Amino acid sequence: MLVRLLWKPLPESWPEAAPQRSAGLRGLAARVWEVAAGVPRDDDVERRVRRGAMQAIVRESFQQTVAEQDSEHRGPAAFAEAWKARLAAVLAQETVEVTGWGEITIAELDIDLGWSLYEAASRARAEAIARAVATPGCRRGADDGPTVSFEFSIAADGDGSLGRVQYAICESCGVGLLKKISFSPEWHCCGFGTLALRELETRHPALTWYTTGQYAHAQGFYQRYRHRSDSPWTADQHPCPHF
Ligand SMILES: [Zn+2]
Repeated sequence: MLVRLLWKPLPESWPEAAPQRSAGLRGLAARVWEVAAGVPRDDDVERRVRRGAMQAIVRESFQQTVAEQDSEHRGPAAFAEAWKARLAAVLAQETVEVTGWGEITIAELDIDLGWSLYEAASRARAEAIARAVATPGCRRGADDGPTVSFEFSIAADGDGSLGRVQYAICESCGVGLLKKISFSPEWHCCGFGTLALRELETRHPALTWYTTGQYAHAQGFYQRYRHRSDSPWTADQHPCPHF
């Protein structure tokens, strides 16, 4: 939903979507008019461009807020506030340069549409975070010896996969190895790392877990998690001879 709101062309009737049937009739009427005229009406095109420009502004302010996550590590609520503040600052200007759009004059845009879009997208993000769960996942390929590799996703209904977790276990040695945990930047600091690690402990409660240490940026997170978790997570890089 977040992606649809920020990246896909907005329906003409958004944010107050008309009932399906009248939208269909209206669409049909518009098409008949266009065919008769041979070209789309200028004001339609202009309105569409203005809506697209506002969407681009909201999207770019979102992406810039995402880009700050490496240094700011904002949780969902703080992220929403920072995004809002950034959008407000942009809309307070006379003109703004937007990637792919050049210079846009703010006064020519529908400010209310911008804020509706921000509210809807921000709510969609919060809902995706609240709904996110681990998928059943699957076994990955064939392993040599007693180790077994698995993969699962953290996903939200309607938003698909938000990130992926890859791990392997060795039953005979009683160890689990977290190989990789990856979320795209827009889903950083949403608590999914903790969700993923808890999931590992739930699926394989008897194992001692190790991390590969390849992901330097995640080290702090693992350290903090280890102190909160009952599971004996360890950073030892030689979990068992079978990996
Ligand atoms: Zn082993």
